Amino acid sequence: MGSEQRRKVIRRRATVLGSTGSVGVNTLDVIDFASRRGEAEVEIVALTANSNVALLAEQAKKFRPRFVAIGDAALKGDLADALRGEDIEIGAGPAAVEEAGARDADWVMAAIVGAAGLKPTLNAARRGAAIALANKECLVCAGDVVMNAVRESGGALLPVDSEHNAIFQVFDFERPHRVARLILTASGGPFRTWSRAEMTAVTPAQAVAHPNWSMGAKISVDSATMMNKGLELIEASHIFPIPSERIDILVHPQSVIHSMVEYVDASVLAQLGTPDMRTPIASAFAWPDRSPSPSARLDFAALKHLTFENPDPERFPALRLAREAVERGGAAPAVLNAANEAAVAAFLSGRLKFLDIANITDQVLDQIGRRNGPARLTSLEEAMAADAEARSLAGRMIAARAAA
Ligand code: NAD
Ligand code: MG
Repeated sequence: MGSEQRRKVIRRRATVLGSTGSVGVNTLDVIDFASRRGEAEVEIVALTANSNVALLAEQAKKFRPRFVAIGDAALKGDLADALRGEDIEIGAGPAAVEEAGARDADWVMAAIVGAAGLKPTLNAARRGAAIALANKECLVCAGDVVMNAVRESGGALLPVDSEHNAIFQVFDFERPHRVARLILTASGGPFRTWSRAEMTAVTPAQAVAHPNWSMGAKISVDSATMMNKGLELIEASHIFPIPSERIDILVHPQSVIHSMVEYVDASVLAQLGTPDMRTPIASAFAWPDRSPSPSARLDFAALKHLTFENPDPERFPALRLAREAVERGGAAPAVLNAANEAAVAAFLSGRLKFLDIANITDQVLDQIGRRNGPARLTSLEEAMAADAEARSLAGRMIAARAAA
């Protein structure tokens, strides 16, 4: 019967939040690839960026969105100049980026980096749009709020983070009680085999040079500290109905198995592919259908072997901090995320040492993340308040270290 089904064109009214970033550019590439082959008909509703006017304008001329928003309000004039004579509405400032999420696309790629993506993503979730979620920080900061918005609006959350997309493809949502555990794979990052002593003098250039994936600066640093896997543990605990104790982390340096689900009968289902974000993006774009993607195919004979090892929480304390935050619940994950964002930004601008990223995060958790509060954050306001308090405390600690 299946073979007799007619191939259907994938129709989407799509918005890309963070279209100028690594995931954003790959998303437009996937859309373009499927459209050129006549497999998709996509109307772009809105594109957003923070400061890259030139690329946003170029994308707008090619994809003809109805609305473009630039996060940095001071750049509105530059964007207007670049799009003069085009019939495209322009917005600027955080409120315009939030509005882009509220416009009526039925599929929204959430690819802004950091907690800055929370409000625009939530606006899309509250309307019942299908959310293709790359922006893991918004689930770490306010997972219950975002997941409730998706449930209440009858929308869908389609994970784009490669590990969660892998699990999504093999998870039996009808029988979650038959899942024994999730196995999140991790590349181990550029310092997988380094000692703590060797990591003391790591530079931003070394930290962003990921062995397998080409990504934005912030997530690349998170991969180097392994906080990325910690954030993904928290992300997985919101997306999949399984307690965090049954989510394991396994280092797999080749990044070919993107994650696995073990069932009660000891069967393990995995999703594999080359390390190319266009595969999980295509999966989320076409879901529940499939669309062709430009990703390279796996060549098993050329790969020869896949290897695995347990993560080392002594050398990578971020793993321990994230597990503690998810078990504590309440504001702790939002505090962890905000402190880490502030510390990573300081490291990238040369104001903080690499190993101090986890030290600062630990100290901020110690001062405010470990105090007793409600077990769940139920409102956006609570999450934003925890985020702001942690960010300002981390800022003071970073300044004190720079002055010492
Ligand atoms: P990036 O830095 O390359 O791009 C970030 C995008 O967000 C840009 O378009 C930028 O203009 C926009 N942006 C940044 N700050 C903003 C602000 N304050 N307001 C509005 N827009 C803002 O990042 P990326 O690597 O594409 O990652 C995006 C998200 O996807 C992150 O949450 C990351 O963890 C996640 N992710 C990325 C990858 C990857 O391969 N790059 C893989 C999995 C998950
Ligand atoms: Mg990932």
